[in-house]
Amino acid sequence: MKESKDPAAEARIRTEVLATARRTVAEGLVVGTSGNVSARLGDMILVTPSGVPYDRLAPDDLVAVDPDGRPLRDGLAPTSELPLHLAVYRATDATAIVHTHAVHATAVSTLVDELPAIHYMTAALGGPVRVAPYALYGSDALARHALAALDGRTACLLRNHGTIAHATSLDRAYDRTAQLEWMCRVWLAASGVPGRTPTLLGPEQLAEAAGKLGGYGQAP
Ligand code: 13P
Ligand code: ZN
Repeated sequence: MKESKDPAAEARIRTEVLATARRTVAEGLVVGTSGNVSARLGDMILVTPSGVPYDRLAPDDLVAVDPDGRPLRDGLAPTSELPLHLAVYRATDATAIVHTHAVHATAVSTLVDELPAIHYMTAALGGPVRVAPYALYGSDALARHALAALDGRTACLLRNHGTIAHATSLDRAYDRTAQLEWMCRVWLAASGVPGRTPTLLGPEQLAEAAGKLGGYGQAP
């Protein structure tokens, strides 16, 4: 049993992780207990427990582990995708991760090796979103494949499985997931029109969009 270094920050992040996990269900990105969410606070990682419906969880039910996945408190078993979450935290500056089984994204993961650049929001994810080769859920192989597919990107598809996105806040990790699912839906809609092939954006158009997206929204 380890005391938190910053109990107020931990309490806030527990509430945010649970709210984000509930949002994935409420907004249709997962069904039942599929998917998982985590956030990192220094050397503490808070993850959703495995196989428990989010509406039955309280913030204190989230599982605290160290960067090697060792539990910091007694409690529920962590998500089966712990190796995937830990691998992303080790390799990136991420402090938040959202994994879903979103319908259109999962469908696209079975059709292509990379989501064609159908929309300029491709640039917001670092470039065309790759599909990581299939591996068993929860496996180290899945974590390895996902890391390779995430190189230079903040999201990827997992073949015949779903999505993973990371960010430095839970809101952004969620938003990237929702944008990815939306782009997959657009591509499926456009590419399903008989006799027509969708136009795609090229590297220059994506670079131009990436530059402009850097200043998108309100000034800080
Ligand atoms: P958990 O319930 O263990 O998080 O598993 C759900 C999942 O999406 C596995 O890939
Ligand atoms: Zn999954």
